[in-house]
Amino acid sequence: MLPDDIKQLIQSAYRQILENKSLAPRYGQRVMIAEIAKSLGQIDPVAEAEAEEEGADTGGPVCVVEAGTGTGKTLAYVLGALPVAQYLNKTVILATATVALQEQVTLKDLPDIKRHSGLEFSYTLAKGRGRYLCLSRLDMLLSGNDSLNAIADLYGDVIIPPNAQSLALYEKMFRKISAGEWHGDRDDWETLLTDQEWQPVTVDNGQCIGQKCSNFSNCCFYKAREEVQKADCVVANHDLVLADLALGGGVILPAPEDSIYIFDEAHHLPLKSNNHFASFTRLKASLGALDQWRKTLGKLAADTVLEENRVLKRELSAVEQALEMAELRLNEIWPLCEQILHSAETDRQGEQSQQHAFAMGQVPEDLRELADTLDAQYTRLAAVFQELGAELKTNMEAGSNVWIHASARNTGFPSLAAWPPVPRAARSCGRSLPGRMPRGRPLGPLADAE
Ligand code: SF4
Repeated sequence: MLPDDIKQLIQSAYRQILENKSLAPRYGQRVMIAEIAKSLGQIDPVAEAEAEEEGADTGGPVCVVEAGTGTGKTLAYVLGALPVAQYLNKTVILATATVALQEQVTLKDLPDIKRHSGLEFSYTLAKGRGRYLCLSRLDMLLSGNDSLNAIADLYGDVIIPPNAQSLALYEKMFRKISAGEWHGDRDDWETLLTDQEWQPVTVDNGQCIGQKCSNFSNCCFYKAREEVQKADCVVANHDLVLADLALGGGVILPAPEDSIYIFDEAHHLPLKSNNHFASFTRLKASLGALDQWRKTLGKLAADTVLEENRVLKRELSAVEQALEMAELRLNEIWPLCEQILHSAETDRQGEQSQQHAFAMGQVPEDLRELADTLDAQYTRLAAVFQELGAELKTNMEAGSNVWIHASARNTGFPSLAAWPPVPRAARSCGRSLPGRMPRGRPLGPLADAE
């Protein structure tokens, strides 16, 4: 239940906007404001705190509003939600469907409401990590070829050495950021940056090493994130909010329990949610990759010098066994998927459907169990790969790298730099199967099993 002073604050803000902008009150808009505020008024901070302590989920109220274009929805949801959020000490996360809408809300609607409503609030635009410069990457790019190899080692990324023109651009970025004239936001750079220019100087979530990074305290993304944590209202787009929630929430945006979400144009959400929460695995491609790894390891095992290295030999044998088991599991899943697809409903033309959605999103028990086993197998595979990679690295550092280089030259054995992504690829393969999903959770279509 909302306190009277919050209700009066909302009413007064609406009245002031109408007066200051010489607008007439609109019945639909008043109903929207009232319904939104009433719904959010059901949030009980004490019950929430107790539930949090017990690790329970209170769920929270949901208000769905459908209104046509030009009915004043933005004003309605901002006035209905913002004062309540401030009272509850929460952040309003306002997610729009497109960048154009995001800009309209940030550059026009929110400044307008702030100017005319008498409400005091701060707002900011939240962007994904990929819109910000990574200082460590920039450092490495400007430090020459050795550092480019380090990028490959650290991030599993192959970077083509920048040409003179790109180098001049990165030097300029460095100068501007050092002088405080630019804050590393791609959209604020003086010219439009192509993906080719930008990609080498940014990182994704898995590549950023966070607090372990020597540039962490000056990091452009984390500085922007501090602003996001301080604002009363954060404007984002659906994809960013869903990406944050897919990471567990509170990674890019304020934590879900401290937030009130507004999804503008929410009819886009089902499709977008599928993109962020659905998972897929290419079974045949995974089998091919396992086969490739096995062949490469076979060549390594045939190396005569390896015979003398017992630890390495043991690690290698563990990887081979794990590969075999993963292959076995994949081969068991394949016929099961085929069976599901063959029994799938036919489409209107009477042809067999290429996609199958499980009824009520329930993954069949046998597929779930197989996928769980596969995930465990891939986790094991990733671990033994990592151990083997570490052992190879130790050998190289100890100076016994002659045979590794010879092996690489003669057999195409991957360089050490290529090892870190292997466990990552292995893990993601296991984890992307539907078996990882909790029972009863809706699951998107099972794509054609190729
Ligand atoms: S914290 Fe992450 S994004 Fe920031 S500079 Fe370091 S690696 Fe780059």
